[in-house]
Amino acid sequence: MPLITRPGNKKFRYTARMMRLAATLLVIFSVTACNQAPTAQAPAPPPNPLPGTKLSVDELKAQMFHVSAGKRLKGAWPNGARVAVGLSFDVDNATATLSTGNLDYEILSRGEYGAIDGLPRILRMLDRQSVPASFFIPAASAVLHPDVVKHIQAGKLGHEIGVHGWIHERLPLLNDEKEEQRLLNLSIETLQKMTGKRPVGYRAPSWKFSTWTMGQVKAAGFLYDSSLMASDDAYELLLDGKPTGIVELPIERILDDSPYFGGNADGSNPTPSAAYEVFQAEFDVAYEEGGLYLLTMHPHMMGHRSRVAMLERLVQYMKRKPGVWFATHEQIANHVKPLIGN
Ligand SMILES: [Zn+2]
Repeated sequence: MPLITRPGNKKFRYTARMMRLAATLLVIFSVTACNQAPTAQAPAPPPNPLPGTKLSVDELKAQMFHVSAGKRLKGAWPNGARVAVGLSFDVDNATATLSTGNLDYEILSRGEYGAIDGLPRILRMLDRQSVPASFFIPAASAVLHPDVVKHIQAGKLGHEIGVHGWIHERLPLLNDEKEEQRLLNLSIETLQKMTGKRPVGYRAPSWKFSTWTMGQVKAAGFLYDSSLMASDDAYELLLDGKPTGIVELPIERILDDSPYFGGNADGSNPTPSAAYEVFQAEFDVAYEEGGLYLLTMHPHMMGHRSRVAMLERLVQYMKRKPGVWFATHEQIANHVKPLIGN
């Protein structure tokens, strides 16, 4: 027997009332549910892309000057030199790839090239030109290819070896104060054991500092850092506005081989001479200004045949000018550090 027959039927009216009641209860329940915490399916509100707009001037100052530039350290160079030239090589090889867990062996082999062919070719060129350089090595890179340390130390030019993280860990991504300290300690100890000397120079992997990096670098007693770029010339680093006594030897993206030849360029730069043009023009002005000229390079990028040839051409060009002081970063930092006290 059907429950609902037709309007006017008693059973129909009763059933309709019950249905209206049920609908009302459903609406009340829905409204109540909406006031509860959002369900798992509810989309999260988008993060504010411009949090800086909400900060007071004091808050902006605290952020801006957590790590910043202090006194400029520009004075006379030794023996009346016009310019100081510091060539640096970050011996990353495959560590940046390994740090992310990427086991794509095509990419890993690109890094391995630095240890196999790139670094030896660069060292042969530096030997030919009698020019010293600084090598910043992720300690895991040295452990995986111990020959790189032996090769760097083999010559008589006194090349320097500095810290460049354990496995090229990007510190803001790591975002862990204790783990960052553990990796820094491990990097220093490993390089000290392998080279016979405690490193005095620090370069952050990918030049990226976390909130804690500056404090840890200072506590570790480094002579200098070479990761930041607030000036063309050396300067003293400040931590929360206070002098640290640490020399910054500034790097610069346009004075780095990576933007021209690295992962993003991916071989799209058709000729090494495009990079040569920028490198030489920057040197020319540094020479005129009596300043500092630093290059950052990577054996797995710059170590290719045509690029080492380009670098040798640049070194020869610089050597033809009078008063060019080729030095390690350590030598340059030791030379400018007394200016902090003046
Ligand atoms: Zn690096």
